Amino acid sequence: MFHLLAGQHGNELNGCAAVDAFIEELDLSELKGTVLAVPVANPVCVAQGRQYPDFDDGLQKNMNLLWPGGPDGTYIERLAWAIWENGLSDADWCLDVHSWKRWQAPAALFSREGDKLVPMGKASGLSVVRMTDAYPPDKYVGFAPTVARRMGHAIGYAIELSGQQRVFPDQVELGCRVMRNLLKHAGMLPGEPHIPRQVNIAEASGVDVRSPSDGVLLPLVMPGDEVAEGHPFARLMRLDTGTSDLLTSPVDGVVFKLGPLDKIQKAMDIEGATKKDRYDRDPSGPVRADELVAVIYEIAAG
Ligand SMILES: [Zn+2]
Repeated sequence: MFHLLAGQHGNELNGCAAVDAFIEELDLSELKGTVLAVPVANPVCVAQGRQYPDFDDGLQKNMNLLWPGGPDGTYIERLAWAIWENGLSDADWCLDVHSWKRWQAPAALFSREGDKLVPMGKASGLSVVRMTDAYPPDKYVGFAPTVARRMGHAIGYAIELSGQQRVFPDQVELGCRVMRNLLKHAGMLPGEPHIPRQVNIAEASGVDVRSPSDGVLLPLVMPGDEVAEGHPFARLMRLDTGTSDLLTSPVDGVVFKLGPLDKIQKAMDIEGATKKDRYDRDPSGPVRADELVAVIYEIAAG
């Protein structure tokens, strides 16, 4: 059984929409085995559009960190426990779909635990992966896929789509492609997953690109797209001359972050201080001279 989970964080609607769309499009005559889909793991937070609930008596409000939950715990712990007991504990495969900010590339997050997880991680077909060493076995890690591996028998991990607070159709399509790839990898749908060239953001460092002048940044690609060395990734409409410049990539790589990144970082720092991290930002917008506008990871040769 392949377990699909989304909507643990209520501001990450792309995952809910992608799981829902995937189930709608799934051709049952082609499917071998069972898919169990939970498109909205945390309905109260989704209804509020919030990452965490604004109530609860427990210390840990982040559903993503408290698996498998418990039958006598807080509201969020009981929600997790219901999902755990009613399928996830018995899954062979699982995927936990999240969605981070729109100016960051969609990514597959997995570790080198056992020999089956890395091939499944790469089979996502996402061009950005965050592949880390395995967590120490004696360390409590409360992510749903990690618990499903350790307490159950599942192989699985989380992905981050791109964009929060609303549904982005391109990310719904991308999420469906990831799920199709993974069911092919699991032998549950016919065919082989398509795997592009991938960068591992856990172990390489990105190349920073800064704006040459004040202007308005108009992206020509999206985070997650490949861009060849010397090729443009954005236009910069200059405010002094009224003309526009092309910003080009210094490396053959994959765009990880794109946008008015210094401005975004400053806003995140303020939000972090007030614990209000609820708003996303678009990759386009006004930038200052020398502002960080892109982080591009070089694709290793060969
Ligand atoms: Zn999340």
